[in-house]
Amino acid sequence: MNILISGATGFIGSSLIEKLLHANHRIYAITRTENPKLHSNVKQIRLNAIASLDQEFDAFINLAGENIASKPWTKKRKKELYDSRIHLTNQVRASLKYPPKLVVSMSAVGFYGVAKNEIFDEYTSPKQGFSHELCRDWEDSANAFFNEDTRVVIFRLGVVLGVGGALDKMRTPFLCGLGGPIADGRQWFSWVHINDVNKGITNAIEDESFIGTYNLVAPQQVEQKAFAKYYASTLKRPAWVTIPKFVFDLIFGEMACLLTHGARIVPERLSKQGFEFEFTKINEALHDIERQYQLR
Ligand code: NDP
Repeated sequence: MNILISGATGFIGSSLIEKLLHANHRIYAITRTENPKLHSNVKQIRLNAIASLDQEFDAFINLAGENIASKPWTKKRKKELYDSRIHLTNQVRASLKYPPKLVVSMSAVGFYGVAKNEIFDEYTSPKQGFSHELCRDWEDSANAFFNEDTRVVIFRLGVVLGVGGALDKMRTPFLCGLGGPIADGRQWFSWVHINDVNKGITNAIEDESFIGTYNLVAPQQVEQKAFAKYYASTLKRPAWVTIPKFVFDLIFGEMACLLTHGARIVPERLSKQGFEFEFTKINEALHDIERQYQLR
């Protein structure tokens, strides 16, 4: 298949591309500048050059977006987060000469906002807030591709665990014995192993019964303090240090809610679809990833 990918250079994109090349797909990556790290078999395209392409695409996989957790959510940063997702998706849609047969676009469990005592499946009404608005508009821009020729699949991702991404930032403090619960640690931590993200995307490409929006989170959800305990024990370190909520509020402002609050999300539609997760248990996922860190 001819597959167009945005965000190909990122944590998920680089892992996914390996799998897609292995399966003999032809990959076209939308990049901001020529990226020497991308595999030589990947054809790189600038966003403003898409309109001149005569190529038809079987699928568009939409991963691009400025990192949601790397900087406080100032007005300027919110605009960058918004433009890098919604404007980019709209621009690709407006530029392509032929609609792709399939669009697989990411979203996040931030769609649901935060809540302690509710369980969210794909049918539960979300809480309001910036993360909800960002995900909602991002999903709308992807759903705008939908018509009788174009199937659209959206995955609302939990924190993706793999070599890279969020664990890359957590591993050093945990190795130094500085990991532990954030605030009271009772907030839900929705996670998914990177292999299951790749599997979700490749299943959506191969299986036409995938359509609409899916929560892509592992079936076993844990509280953040349980995650901290498992991760520390995987690294054979203690998890004693508790970081109070006000420290995060002070440093990160509105964005702190990503760390100090959470929501319990279940993969209802994937379960009904018969999707089999490779990693259902957090301790097994963390051990697997740590083995890969050790091999690097
Ligand atoms: P990364 O931050 O690792 O990669 C982001 C990608 O988007 C990079 O290829 C980057 O390109 C590109 N990008 C960033 N800003 C722009 C921009 N302004 N214009 C064009 N391209 C841009 O993200 P992940 O791979 O981890 O995640 C992929 C998507 O999934 C993201 O949109 C993210 O929000 C979402 N997601 C990820 C989760 C996770 O835990 N990883 C959880 C929930 C959702 P460049 O190399 O040029 O910087």
